[in-house]
Amino acid sequence: MKKRIDLTGRQFGDLTVIGKAESKEKGRFWTCECVCGNTIVVKQADLKNQKVTSCGHEATAITEKKEPAKKMQVKKAPAKKAANGTGHVGVSKVELKSGTRYKANISVDGKTKHLGTFDTLEEAVDARQEAEEMYRKK
Ligand SMILES: [Zn+2]
Repeated sequence: MKKRIDLTGRQFGDLTVIGKAESKEKGRFWTCECVCGNTIVVKQADLKNQKVTSCGHEATAITEKKEPAKKMQVKKAPAKKAANGTGHVGVSKVELKSGTRYKANISVDGKTKHLGTFDTLEEAVDARQEAEEMYRKK
């Protein structure tokens, strides 16, 4: 039964959570200690969204390394229009007597690896994406 999040000890920017705060406002609040020594109460959502990362002191000097939270950045670049009739890079349509199939390929080190032939475009795209992740990690 660990439903409540305990942020005690966690760090959010210049703030270290020192304990839960009581508040009449809706939502969960935490008491945080700032690097400058101030203690403030911050709404949990604001901590998590990194909306509040300091007590409000001149934050610029200390936050050198931190990149601003990249929000709303599209994870996957939109699929480039590929000239293979599927609109998906690495996936091509194959017309067989038995019906339409989709072939997935990926280039690794200049070589094309065949990932398989699938009944649906979705499966082929999935296979291609999985392969991309697999090879990118190495
Ligand atoms: Zn401060």
